[in-house]
Amino acid sequence: MELTEIFGSNVFSDKIMQERLPKQIYKALRETIEKDLPLRPDVADVVANTMKDWALEKGATHYTHWFQPLTGITAEKHDSFISASADGGIIVEFSGKQLIQGEPDASSFPSGGLRSTFEARGYTAWDCTSPAILKTDESGNVTLTIPTAFISYNGEALDKKTPLLRSMKAVSKQALRVLRALGNTTSMKITSTVGPEQEYFLVDKEFYLDRLDLMLAGRTIFGAPAPKGQELEDQYFGAIKDRVSDYMNDLNTELWKMGITSKTQHNEVAPAQYEMAPIFATTNIATDHNQLVMETMQKVALRHDLVCLLHEKPYAGINGSGKHNNWSLSTNDGINLLEPGRTPSENVQFLLFLSALLRAVDTHADILRATCAHAANDHRLGANEAPPAIISIFMGDELTDILEKISKGQKVTARGAQFVNVGVDTLPEIPKDNTDRNRTSPFAFTGNKFEFRMVGSSQSIAGPNVALNTITAQALDEIATRLEKAKDKNAEAAAIIKETYKKHSRVIFNGNNYSEAWPKEAAKRGLPNVTNSVDALKAFITDKSIKLFEKYEVLSHKEMHSRYDIYVETYAKQINIEARAAIDMVKKQFIPAAAEYATFLAESISAFKAVSVAAPVQQDILKDLAGLLASAYKNLGKLEAATAKAQEIAETVKKAETYRDKVIPAMQALRIDIDALEMIVPRDMWPVPTYAELLFKL
Ligand code: ADP
Ligand code: MG
Repeated sequence: MELTEIFGSNVFSDKIMQERLPKQIYKALRETIEKDLPLRPDVADVVANTMKDWALEKGATHYTHWFQPLTGITAEKHDSFISASADGGIIVEFSGKQLIQGEPDASSFPSGGLRSTFEARGYTAWDCTSPAILKTDESGNVTLTIPTAFISYNGEALDKKTPLLRSMKAVSKQALRVLRALGNTTSMKITSTVGPEQEYFLVDKEFYLDRLDLMLAGRTIFGAPAPKGQELEDQYFGAIKDRVSDYMNDLNTELWKMGITSKTQHNEVAPAQYEMAPIFATTNIATDHNQLVMETMQKVALRHDLVCLLHEKPYAGINGSGKHNNWSLSTNDGINLLEPGRTPSENVQFLLFLSALLRAVDTHADILRATCAHAANDHRLGANEAPPAIISIFMGDELTDILEKISKGQKVTARGAQFVNVGVDTLPEIPKDNTDRNRTSPFAFTGNKFEFRMVGSSQSIAGPNVALNTITAQALDEIATRLEKAKDKNAEAAAIIKETYKKHSRVIFNGNNYSEAWPKEAAKRGLPNVTNSVDALKAFITDKSIKLFEKYEVLSHKEMHSRYDIYVETYAKQINIEARAAIDMVKKQFIPAAAEYATFLAESISAFKAVSVAAPVQQDILKDLAGLLASAYKNLGKLEAATAKAQEIAETVKKAETYRDKVIPAMQALRIDIDALEMIVPRDMWPVPTYAELLFKL
């Protein structure tokens, strides 16, 4: 099949709806989607029936309401299209009601206290702004997959999609007010757009299955460094190995079928690390697609006897994986609001939106940080790795210079051209800065969008985008309110840009974010630097954020608290799994292996002695080995004690803090001994695959 035939072949797309739905029904549905109206039941019935016929033609037997609970992954429960008929047989049907709403029970998902068991009902509701698709598997099973929001009996959000949709509405409303105040009468809706670049590792399945830590925790808890790491930089953009490109081809086909615009693929910096980037879409669709991307990456890998690792830090000592969240705002008539314009008035608009971001990110750096806080991402943020835990904005020198000059009332020049008057009404053409290759900034302006780089590779992008949309909505709200009241809009716009820059320029940093000087400089500027998730998550329940999310009707006080509780609890659970996996491996694999080698050495020494030959080498090694073994055993005991203590704590935050402060350090201490043992025990006695095998044998 040709690419154009494959692409979208499993999507109940706008084109298919237009072809198959009666004209009136199609029109009503479009209006529902575009204007966020409630769906009429008669329309839903026809759409459902048409959708079912299409799915059956394509071999589907089941449908599912696909949703995104707070676990960060997706959930689905399959129902077949059959119903019992009066005469004892079956009929194939799918009603509007079944399309619009489901009741998956699903009482085992985390709700953070929003659902007590006696009213454990949770509902799924069709999100008609994201198209239904067919999911297919290797053996040809086809499931009609309907994107839905997951809410409680009382209408509280139990998922990641609901607040995302609310935040999109909020930012659209406020951005539109700004545009109206600036005289735009044609744009009707603003959407936030996202292009998430997905990093991942591949590992041979055989090796993966031999490592309990990879299987259960998604990362290697132990492992001595391989003699070669990423120092030669020969992996980044290197030629893609056949085995990997076979995988990528299969992956692309699966993604394209579902209408996912897989566009760019390449080798990443670390050995066995790769990236896939799609073409950007509305935040909602991009989020759905990214979940499908992660799921499909893992599924397709298994077909190639590979395993796809999405963990932020599968291996110590080499780069981890992130997800660059490219974000912008655009109007329904195609104007990217973060694109510098050619005329002064376009540039007033551009600089106002830029100012909104400046204000939003500086004011709510803590919230952005919190949206990327989970146990796995702690290995990146705040460790010696990209990007640091301090939120700052990279603007580029040229743009910073323009803002700086405006704020001081100085002449603005760009690319050598001089402009006589001061003020935004005489702004020069702002050149699109394509020179950003500052890969160290957590929040970089890249010419016509912002790239939020703190997001972890395994996490849902919903949370970060809920935050981006909402903090931007607030900043735009303030700008709109000022502009609406002002007589001289241009003068007011100039004043806003000036004031915002003066107040919030501390968050701009164009230098090297990895340098040792930056945390010191950031501290002087008063920028927060929170290096661990347990503390970072607190930003969700401050008065400041609850006020913010409530005001823009994105998340209620209760919903914020439930989320906070769930995330803190998940942190503790994850570290607990790691600790238990570590204990298991050390007890059942590493200590026995080291003891076996010790016995081998002791026997060798005896054998030498029996023939009156000294064995100084064996003796030396045995001494080292015995020392490490003793130390490992002691540290194992400490880890067991720390874990047992943490397990007993009932209070969620204290529990998570104990895992952070006691269990993680105990695991790290144990790792030092085990990795040292790995360096001396012969390979054939070492019970698990080594870093060299995991990273280079692909
Ligand atoms: P790189 O960051 O590697 O230079 P690109 O700039 O080409 O790569 O794009 C990275 C991602 O940003 C892609 O997924 C692309 O679709 C996305 N992107 C481009 N424009 C926008 C936009 N206006 N809004 C959101 N994402 C965008
Ligand atoms: Mg990028």
